[in-house]
Amino acid sequence: MTRGPTKTAEDGREAKGFARLDAEAFPAFEPGAVWLVGAGPGAPGLMSLLCYHAMQACDVVVYDALVNPDILRWVRADVELEYAGKRGGRPSPTQRDISLRLIELARAGKRVLRLKGGDPFMFGRGGEECQHLAQAGVVFRIVPGITAGVGGLAYAGIPATHRDTNHAVMFLTGHDASGKMPANVNWAAVATASPVIVMYMAVKNLAEIAAALMAGGRPTGDPVTIISNASLPQQLVQTTTLAAAGAFVREHDPPTPAIVVVGPAADWRSLLDWYGPDLRENRIG
Ligand code: SAH
Repeated sequence: MTRGPTKTAEDGREAKGFARLDAEAFPAFEPGAVWLVGAGPGAPGLMSLLCYHAMQACDVVVYDALVNPDILRWVRADVELEYAGKRGGRPSPTQRDISLRLIELARAGKRVLRLKGGDPFMFGRGGEECQHLAQAGVVFRIVPGITAGVGGLAYAGIPATHRDTNHAVMFLTGHDASGKMPANVNWAAVATASPVIVMYMAVKNLAEIAAALMAGGRPTGDPVTIISNASLPQQLVQTTTLAAAGAFVREHDPPTPAIVVVGPAADWRSLLDWYGPDLRENRIG
């Protein structure tokens, strides 16, 4: 067995619990830089140490609607909080508005924490924001987060892959920029490409998506699992089949945000469903 470098008191091992974090040499958050950070699917305990560090070291947080307010409680008290989502009937700022705002804040010398739900590069438009930052010459860092399509499944007792059920998994969005079922997806190919399909933003168009998958040869009895508010105390998991999915959504109106899982991975839930009512009182996750 190889041994790691010898630890000394100065490296923080003497400190207890989370106080150790303060002794760690986290990367410097430079004024004028933007950190694009994924906060995870909801439960604060699922954020990364770099996310936590950025929340202490930044000057301003620009956050999305999907960031759990419970997570914002962890931000240093004197940091400005700026909301970048849809608010009370007003149209949401365009992606361009948000990118321009990030650039403006960075050019004013702020340490800008751009906080997004899940992972910033997974259906989160983080790529577009980074592209604008790079073009504007703003220094940035990306901190990945636990995406809802993996972490959310774990909280529902569904392994995204399992050697007995699927050697592949596919992630897709059920929504294009105009809110419709994406037309530039080859649904016939998707139907047979992967035993498990994990869909983001798919509840509204589920009837249409299910029809397209069945038309492409997907079995009508394939399980469909809808995971609402994954990892939060109000998490709700509902199951139906591909043929019944459209009617199910009309009748039960599943709360959003929700992840839709198509395929047999959901069968593991009967054995692996671990996030029970007694665990949900803990707000950390
Ligand atoms: N970047 C995010 C996804 C943004 S798109 C990520 O990596 O998770 C928004 C979609 O994510 C929602 O419509 C929903 O499909 C999914 N989502 C995000 N948080 C969720 C949660 N806590 N429970 C269920 N679905 C969630």
